[in-house]
Amino acid sequence: MGAITEAIGQIRASLPDGVALVAVSKFHPVAALREAYDAGQRIFGESRAQELAVKVPAMPDDVEWHFIGHLQTNKVRMVLPFVRMIHSVDSERLLLEIEKEAARLGKTVDVLLELHVAREESKYGFSAADCGRLSSDGVLGRISHVRVCGVMAMATDTDDTDEIRGEFRRAADTFRSLRSGAMSGNPYFRTISMGMSHDYRIAVEEGSTMVRIGSRIFGERQY
Ligand SMILES: *Cc1c(COP(=O)(O)O)cnc(C)c1O
Repeated sequence: MGAITEAIGQIRASLPDGVALVAVSKFHPVAALREAYDAGQRIFGESRAQELAVKVPAMPDDVEWHFIGHLQTNKVRMVLPFVRMIHSVDSERLLLEIEKEAARLGKTVDVLLELHVAREESKYGFSAADCGRLSSDGVLGRISHVRVCGVMAMATDTDDTDEIRGEFRRAADTFRSLRSGAMSGNPYFRTISMGMSHDYRIAVEEGSTMVRIGSRIFGERQY
């Protein structure tokens, strides 16, 4: 058995029912994605528009592509034809641009609102209050080709597991208050995307329903 197949098997076995696995394949060659596919993996996460556009035609049609990286509004047009879900919606402007392009394509796309919970300034995302404002300002009422399916969060890059846990807990709390508040009329709002190779176990304990795992499956990133 190859290393990728083995890693996917181990991760699957460690995830509770109802937690989806996104195999983060950025910077890995198509041959590696193929091995994951042959091991039964169907959801793949990419973070660059160009790389996504090259990999999609090289992989079978039943792959579900998720865009997980920071997305600039001028790249929306390139990414949208390929993706089922965008995890990294971090501004109202980006949300409206996705709506515009999805309408143009006659397609519905799923998105997650990226929450800023980490200590690092460098990470992108909405605060809980920003998310509430999307609803109260009527932005959500103006989108009909985008389904807001939940939230995504990244914890601070640290060895301090208490800090990581606290940040994931805040993200899950925000999700729950949005679900019972601003998003209560939205039946699609049910996903919490959090947890990467080094912190996914903590994320799952704190309520993650979708983990995004790269290096633990594919090894260190290439090129
Ligand atoms: C790269 C990346 C991941 C996967 O990171 P690993 O540490 O390799 O598991 C998950 N989420 C996002 C947003 C990423 O950019």
